[in-house]
Amino acid sequence: MDLDEQQLRLEGVYLQNDRGEYMQRVKLTGGILSLAQARALAELGTCFGSGNLHLSTRGSVEFHRLKGEDLLHVFRGLAAVGLFSRGACGGAVRGISCSSGFGPGFARTQVMLRHFLMHFSGNPHYEGLPKKFKMAFEAGYTGSRHLIQDLAMVLVEDRGEGSAYDVWVAGGLGREPQAGFLYQSRVSEAELLPLAESIVEVYKAWGEKGRRLKHLLNSIGEAELRRQIEEQRAKKQAVCFRDAFAKELLPDESSRRILLNLFAGELVAREFVEIVELAEAHKCRWLRVTPDQNLELLVSDSDDLLRQALGEAGFTVQPSEEGVLRVCPGKPECRMGLCETRNLAQHILDKFGPLAQKHSLAISGCRNSCAQPQLADFGILASRLKSAGDQPVALFDLYRRHGEGLGEKTATGLTEDELLSLLSEKLSA
Ligand code: SF4
Repeated sequence: MDLDEQQLRLEGVYLQNDRGEYMQRVKLTGGILSLAQARALAELGTCFGSGNLHLSTRGSVEFHRLKGEDLLHVFRGLAAVGLFSRGACGGAVRGISCSSGFGPGFARTQVMLRHFLMHFSGNPHYEGLPKKFKMAFEAGYTGSRHLIQDLAMVLVEDRGEGSAYDVWVAGGLGREPQAGFLYQSRVSEAELLPLAESIVEVYKAWGEKGRRLKHLLNSIGEAELRRQIEEQRAKKQAVCFRDAFAKELLPDESSRRILLNLFAGELVAREFVEIVELAEAHKCRWLRVTPDQNLELLVSDSDDLLRQALGEAGFTVQPSEEGVLRVCPGKPECRMGLCETRNLAQHILDKFGPLAQKHSLAISGCRNSCAQPQLADFGILASRLKSAGDQPVALFDLYRRHGEGLGEKTATGLTEDELLSLLSEKLSA
């Protein structure tokens, strides 16, 4: 197969290492998977790649270390259950995330997210963008993930097609973290798609290659960005999504959830097959990849037997999302990684145990901030390398978050020992 790297990126695939192995990222609808889709992912993961699936902080699933000749098999296996990865990498509207779990507003945001994902994925009008474009639907402000999207739509009034959303624009982490700003409060559902299209179109037309929307904002200013968006918006008409069944197709808000805690979002594919089989046996129909890289099973009936069966099979069932630890793949899985993030995470757990679990922690292997360290109580980021004998070693920055905004950098250029000692001081304070 002739593999063009740019084309592959748009298909959600990029070269992962010098051995010619690939990463393929699969877009999920707001992190939700049907049981059939979960089974397909689990089985593909046992046949191809590293034997593990990685759960991302945006509710996507990644296959790592795929051979070139595996790609077509994986694409076919995904297509058979309605999964796809178009636009999961490259200059496109990426997977649309939703960090809100079950509860008020969940069903409405999922319905809208599905419509938006279908509209923007693989649509040539919204590909060929200067860089990635991240969207999210959120059912509320918990977790503050509206701040880190190019476009975030936060449900503030849940009245079906008459719902209203606060729209936040031009946020992003990466090398230059910047919180998004509130573009408009209480946008009606009918106005949402024309506004979203206008924002992406302005970015496509005026964004600088390789730079996110926040850079366009910084270069032309908020007033000019608004003027351009409104000029586009004036050409469009309001549009309602009307469907008879969408809400009923989704998990019910009354469903119970069972949270499986995964270390660093790593899911061993053959264990995933076991989880899926237990879920099938106990009539669980939906799973969810959480924003903290864990796996949630959504159960309609009594969840006690499934909970017990999962525990007996050796899986860690958690009562809640306490002790959040988000970890990006880092070295050697990611070519950008400056350190082995999972090893560092394990050192932290070994050293601090329950103390670390009282807080949220996030570890990123480079300044791209994929683990969202600026949204954790303690955010750790490998920021540069320092020569030390044969092998350079990573130096770390530490972020602390206290209020509602992004965390602030409080220490920089720390060796791993210095980092652990500073963490020891802060965690026990
Ligand atoms: S933060 Fe850096 S090292 Fe980690 S996955 Fe993202 S790009 Fe790779």
